[in-house]
Amino acid sequence: KKTENQMLVIFGASGDLTARKLIPSLFNLYMADQLPKNYVVLGVSRSNLSDEAYRERVVYNSSFLTEKTKNIDEAKLKGFADKLYYEDIGDDYDTDYSNLRKRVESLKEKHNTSGNIIYYLSTPPTLYETIAHRLSEVRMNTQNNGWKRLIVEKPFGYSLETAKKLNKGLHQYFKENQIYRIDHYLGKETVQNLLVTRFSNSIFEPLWNRNYIQHVEITNAESVGVEKRGGYYDKSGALRDMFQNHLLQIVSLVVMEPPIGSEAEEIRNEKVKALKSLRIMTDEKELAENTIRAQYVGSTIKGETVKGYRDEDGVDPNSTTETYAAVKFYVDNWRWHGVPFYVRTAKRMPTKVTEIVIHFKKPHHQIFKGSEMQEMDNKLIVRIQPDEGILIKFGVKVPGQGFKVERANLDFYYSSLVETYVMEAYERLLLDCMQGDATLYARADEVEAAWEFVDPILNYWKNGKDVRMYGYGAGAWGPENADDLIEEEGYWRNPSEN
Ligand code: NAP
Repeated sequence: KKTENQMLVIFGASGDLTARKLIPSLFNLYMADQLPKNYVVLGVSRSNLSDEAYRERVVYNSSFLTEKTKNIDEAKLKGFADKLYYEDIGDDYDTDYSNLRKRVESLKEKHNTSGNIIYYLSTPPTLYETIAHRLSEVRMNTQNNGWKRLIVEKPFGYSLETAKKLNKGLHQYFKENQIYRIDHYLGKETVQNLLVTRFSNSIFEPLWNRNYIQHVEITNAESVGVEKRGGYYDKSGALRDMFQNHLLQIVSLVVMEPPIGSEAEEIRNEKVKALKSLRIMTDEKELAENTIRAQYVGSTIKGETVKGYRDEDGVDPNSTTETYAAVKFYVDNWRWHGVPFYVRTAKRMPTKVTEIVIHFKKPHHQIFKGSEMQEMDNKLIVRIQPDEGILIKFGVKVPGQGFKVERANLDFYYSSLVETYVMEAYERLLLDCMQGDATLYARADEVEAAWEFVDPILNYWKNGKDVRMYGYGAGAWGPENADDLIEEEGYWRNPSEN
């Protein structure tokens, strides 16, 4: 695909995300010759910085670029840094953008970037609508002299109501096809590979339904706690921070029907349909039986004492924000009727891993009596991180007398493709937006459909009667009660097992 000449304007350019992800991703694209010929980046935020000071900060002195730039010659690095500019904005971004417009115009003339512009909103979310409004006031959203796109960072609202309000707010100034809601999970290679695995092979899709699948399990585990983001996290929690967005995006790719083609709208239409078919739980009894929340408590991991969640900096000592969430639910459509989905996400787990496990049904009639096969189901595991890959577990005969069955692994790891460079998620997504491809960005109706499902759980956890908050030792696989949720199927898969 062609990447036209363009400019990237980053709001919140002095922040963590810009330094940690955006600039390093742009740098990778620069090194891979993927940036257009005429290209500049204009960083915008409240801090008072010159262009030079900004370059020092996000390029020359950035700890996020040290590894990438250590063997690069000076002129090459300068070629990248010199394309970065900086402009400070009024107190709270809620100001007249005429000066910003002038700066953009002059950079456009100087570098011949054309009128194509991406605005990247990397500020606190409370400012998204304000920035869109201020841009429109000085007609920086109009497309008669080049396209204008708006990348919006998560969170897309804190509830269904606020998500709708945000969408409506942005739609006053930008059309839906100009808005790119970034969910970096969709930029991960194996997440996209789920589509290819399903729809480019003939061996999986015929089995991808209630007749052959027993249950689906999705785990997102982080080994770290809230680190320095206690204040932010305490207002959010596992369900908002991970489940509503990243995990339901993954669910939609597992659940969706085959799209009619691979165009953005064709895929996104199917994802919305998938999300709309999740059975919304409203009854308190149902919510009590199918959801579990918990917080990590202080413990010792490998000889090191770690704080409990409520003792973390920035966290309310009486906090009822969950760091562990597990939800069992059903999908009400022809394909998935009666197949339970078990999805969990948590911090302070034994390891960092994200994986999807498709558990296939056991043969209806098992002829190898007493064999381990009774215990062994066929599994397809899509490993999203780390060790990205696709793993298939099945039974083979142990050589020798009788029919002893042992599990064999048909595992594919991306790392085995040594020559293939796997783009980082932000890098891939930025390039897609530069080329106008919204396939891996979330559409307004997708975001709202995901909130429709999550909202009643959040409301129940907040206002329901006698809702338990369990504790789990940091470094454990969640509270024991989480095992009850999946009891019918046996147990949660231990992702550390091969
Ligand atoms: P950040 O470092 O806290 O803030 C980004 C920038 O916004 C700051 O540099 C600050 O720059 C500006 N800002 C303007 N008004 C502010 C205010 N009232 N309070 C604080 N800062 C203000 O945030 P970030 O981590 O880069 O995240 C940016 C956005 O991306 C957020 O919406 C976040 O939810 C989302 N996000 C971040 C991550 C991540 O890993 N960091 C991951 C996913 C999503 P000035 O003070 O110079 O104006």
